Amino acid sequence: MIPKMVLLVVAMTLSILAADSNRLRVLLIDGQNNHDWRSSTPHLKAVLEASGRFTVEVLTLPGKGGDMAAVKPQLDGVAVVLSNYNGELWPEVLRSAFVDFVRKGGGFVSVHAANNAFAQWPEYNEMIGVGGWEGRNEKSGPWLYWEGKIVRDASPGPGGSHGSQHAFQMTTREPKHPIMEGLPLEWMHAKDELYDRLRGPAKNLTVLATAFSDPKTRGTGKHEPLLFTIAFGQGRVFHTALGHNNGPDLTSQKCVGFITTLLRGTEWAATGRVTLPIPTDFPSATEVRSRE
Ligand code: ZN
Repeated sequence: MIPKMVLLVVAMTLSILAADSNRLRVLLIDGQNNHDWRSSTPHLKAVLEASGRFTVEVLTLPGKGGDMAAVKPQLDGVAVVLSNYNGELWPEVLRSAFVDFVRKGGGFVSVHAANNAFAQWPEYNEMIGVGGWEGRNEKSGPWLYWEGKIVRDASPGPGGSHGSQHAFQMTTREPKHPIMEGLPLEWMHAKDELYDRLRGPAKNLTVLATAFSDPKTRGTGKHEPLLFTIAFGQGRVFHTALGHNNGPDLTSQKCVGFITTLLRGTEWAATGRVTLPIPTDFPSATEVRSRE
């Protein structure tokens, strides 16, 4: 006779395995960034895994001047790629595998300065929709603003800037989108960089949320799009321009609004659906809420 305790342990192990097999596999890419990726990657991984919906593998690319030729794409069985990378161009083997992956229906999530990367890589810029810095200008595509609808401004000028860091209010522009459905129309985001004047091809792009870039904080005086979805081939992209970090304090990424939209955006990019709930500690229109 098998002792009850053993049966219980076997049953528990099987249920954990079953739960794990239902989890969506995320490949998080890092290794170069003008931000502190060594502290943000473990944070992003912990946040994603704590939701119970994801398992996260990390692909850390070589540092500047390192041997990119040795990189293996590792995309088999992956549901969604999350980039926490802003640096040297990925090797051709990874670029082509990644484009193929998204084009055939894979998900992609771009976090903060991942939208600074790869100004010269056309498919990547189509995936992120808009980006900043690294020589971006009118040749990269229009600026986007929100004036009751998306305005595309093709005037000449650089792409990408931000004023001084501060907490700011986010405004939902697509309340029926699965990522945004049920969220408050306005919520206070923790101290962060408010990216402005991003520009890019902006094809097949939906603006989910904007924030007013106040001239008092050296902003543009416009409602700047900060959360996006983009369709690329059969694939889905969730792009959050939020999430600046210079060090391990991670203030912007501990915001419950950042966390919730990241989780729901990652699930949507992977599956086209959102099952993850809106937490009860979601920020109000005037009050930042953060998690340690
Ligand atoms: Zn930043």
